[in-house]
Amino acid sequence: MNHAIELLLKDFKGKALQNEPLGKYTSLKVGGIADVVVFPLNLTDLIQLMEGIRKHKVPFFVIGAGSNLIIRDGGMRGIVIKLSHFTRIEKIDAATLFVESGVFLPRLLKYTLEASLTGLEFLCSIPGNVGGAIKMNAGIPGREISDVVESVRLLTYQGEIVDIGKKEACFGYRRSKFPKGVLLGGVFNLQQASRHEVQEKIAVLLKKRRETQPLSHPNVGSIFKNPPGHYAGRLIEEVGLKGFQIGGAQISEKHANFIINKGSATAGDIIQLIKKAGREVEDKKGLVLELEAKIIGENGSDR
Ligand SMILES: Cc1cc2nc3c(=O)[nH]c(=O)nc-3n(C[C@H](O)[C@H](O)[C@H](O)COP(=O)(O)OP(=O)(O)OC[C@H]3O[C@@H](n4cnc5c(N)ncnc54)[C@H](O)[C@@H]3O)c2cc1C
Repeated sequence: MNHAIELLLKDFKGKALQNEPLGKYTSLKVGGIADVVVFPLNLTDLIQLMEGIRKHKVPFFVIGAGSNLIIRDGGMRGIVIKLSHFTRIEKIDAATLFVESGVFLPRLLKYTLEASLTGLEFLCSIPGNVGGAIKMNAGIPGREISDVVESVRLLTYQGEIVDIGKKEACFGYRRSKFPKGVLLGGVFNLQQASRHEVQEKIAVLLKKRRETQPLSHPNVGSIFKNPPGHYAGRLIEEVGLKGFQIGGAQISEKHANFIINKGSATAGDIIQLIKKAGREVEDKKGLVLELEAKIIGENGSDR
């Protein structure tokens, strides 16, 4: 292990896995090796870790459920932080919750259903964690997480814990803006409703998802954002790429804005497909597609 990383992990209490394959932390099941993946035990552990990161100038990356990430085959240097122990849901009042970043969205949905709270149903088929959903401003057409987030708590790179109001977070279409650091959680404003009403809303949304998305293979959700007035999936379909395959990666036959891993895909295969789709749409339709999924990490041996 790199000497700086070794030093900064000296007093770390949580689990630290060296030379860890990142594919198992992403919904696409691809990605090279991380120098180290760490699981801070609690806030004190995380604050000390951040001090070490700063002192030893080690790069870091926070990974949520990895459902919006394409990690290149060369993996990641430095420290990958996973908030598996930050899973508290706290009721502030009848319809306001503070939820930690490591909470998986389906678990939060189950909680709100049991508590008869409405407002988060649109997240029911998004397989992310709360931190990742806030960072990405996750949503569906007409509804996104910034509609229900009141404020966000962040551990800054300088080691301060700050609460950031919705306005300062500059939420936009699948984006937000925060100072460098680790999102610890967010305050959500919901409403009380009957359990039946919440259940119905979730059932309708889940049915639609199952009908339109290729959920039987590993994927990363929408690859591209929809350009204003268009649907990225329709554009990719119109340029004739539905079902097109490179290596083990395929543009889904069911929804052309999804790329699926048929079992043996590398990040290189997926990235080549993304480039191909972007190029063809630009050449034939005159539209530049912007990525919704994030490509990170170091280049590997693309095939
Ligand atoms: C089948 C499928 C369907 C999907 N459908 C939708 C959809 O309908 N709408 C939608 O918006 N998205 C959708 N997605 C994409 C994805 O689920 C969302 O973007 C989700 O919010 C990402 O959360 P995550 O925890 O997986 O974040 P990750 O993918 O792990 O990370 C995303 C970004 O957030 C940052 N991040 C994560 N946690 C923290 C933290 N604690 N502090 C600081 N930064 C952090 C990461 O560094 C990274 O930059 C879908 C994905 C799949 C696989």
